[in-house]
Amino acid sequence: MKFNDNPVTLVERMPPPIVASRLKTDPSGTLERLHEKLATHRVDAFLVSKPPNVRYVTGFSAPKDGRVLLCRRHGILFTDARYSIQAREESTLPVSIWKGRDRWTCVANHLRKLGISRLAVETDALTVPEWRHLRNLLPCRLRPVSAWVDELRQVKRSDEIAHMSRAAALNDRAFQHILPSLRPGVTERDLALELEWFLRTNGDFQIAFEVIVASGPNGARPHASPTLRKFQYRDLITLDFGSRCEGYASDITRTVAIGKPPRRLRSIYQTVLRSQTHGLETLRPGIQARDVDRAVRHLIRKAGLGPYFTHSLGHGVGLEIHEPPRLSTSSREVLQAGMIVTCEPGIYVPEIGGVRIEDLVLITKTGHERLSQSPKELLCL
Ligand code: ZN
Ligand code: ZN
Repeated sequence: MKFNDNPVTLVERMPPPIVASRLKTDPSGTLERLHEKLATHRVDAFLVSKPPNVRYVTGFSAPKDGRVLLCRRHGILFTDARYSIQAREESTLPVSIWKGRDRWTCVANHLRKLGISRLAVETDALTVPEWRHLRNLLPCRLRPVSAWVDELRQVKRSDEIAHMSRAAALNDRAFQHILPSLRPGVTERDLALELEWFLRTNGDFQIAFEVIVASGPNGARPHASPTLRKFQYRDLITLDFGSRCEGYASDITRTVAIGKPPRRLRSIYQTVLRSQTHGLETLRPGIQARDVDRAVRHLIRKAGLGPYFTHSLGHGVGLEIHEPPRLSTSSREVLQAGMIVTCEPGIYVPEIGGVRIEDLVLITKTGHERLSQSPKELLCL
C-alpha cells in the first residue's frame, strides 16, 4: 500500500460520499433548518430580505441588493444585473437576475411558477410601503415573520469564529500601532483617520463601524464622533473601533491616558476595569444575559457611580456589529456556547470625562475565551 505517496489519486478513486451535494451548498445545515421551519409553520416558502440574513444564507457579499426565496426543496438568490458575475461566484444558491423597474415582479413571477400559496415574509428590514406593495403584488397569502435567520446566526459556526478571531487580532495590532501617536497636540480626527487607515490596509478594507476617539471631557459621550479637539496632557482618551474579516465585524474599546490623569479619573478607571473583569468571569453557557449585566451594574453602583453607567453591558457581534443576544437588564436570552458577545461597562461623568473597556468574547462549552487580547491596565503614555 503506497497511498500516502499520492493522496490526490486516493481521493479521486473514492466513491463520492452520499451527503456530498448537501454539504456543498449547505455545509452548516442552515438551509435544512430553515426548511424545517417552513414545515413547522405550514408555509410553502420564505422570503429573506434583511441584508445580513441574505448574506448568511447565500454567502453573497452585496446583500443590500439581494433577496432570497427559500422553498421546501430549494432556494433562489435574486439580484440585479450589476452583480451577475459576483453573485454567481459567491452564492451557494442559484441566482436569478431581476429585470424591469420593480424587483418584486420577478419574485412574484417565480412564486406563480412554483405554485406557492402561503409565503412567510421576513419583515424586519421592510418599510411599511414595501410591505403594502408586497401584499398587493405577490400572488399568495403572506405571513409576516421575524428573526428566523437571526436566531440561527446567534451561535457561530467554526468558520465564523475563525473570521472574528482574525478581526479581533487585527484590532489588537491596531491598538499597539496607534499608541505612539497618542501625544499632546494630535487631534481626535487625526488619530481616528490613522486607526481607520491601519484597519483598512491590514485587513479586508472594511471597518465594522465609524471609529470613536473621545478625549478629555468628550469621553463623557459614549458614542462621540471624533472632533478637532487636540489631546492634552493628563487626558483620558477612549478608542472604540473594529475591523471586519470576510464580512464579520469585531469590536474593542480601550481607554488610555497621556501622562498621569487626575485621581478621580484614575479611580473611575479602576472601577470600570474591576467590573469588566467581573463581567468576564461570569460569562459561561447557561447564564442569563441579564444576570451578567446585573452583576456588573451592581459593582458600579456599589462604587457610587451607578447613574454614570448609562448603557447596557454588551451585545452580540457577527455580520452585524450589534446583534442578539443583548447583555442588558431587560434581556431574556440565555448564553450558549458559540455565541460571540462584548463585555463593555463604561462610566461617563459630564464635563469630566469617561472610561470604557470592551472585549470581544467567545462563549465556550466550559466558560469563555477572550478574543481581544490588548492589555487593560491603565496605560499612562
Ligand atoms: Zn465598541
Ligand atoms: Zn460594542
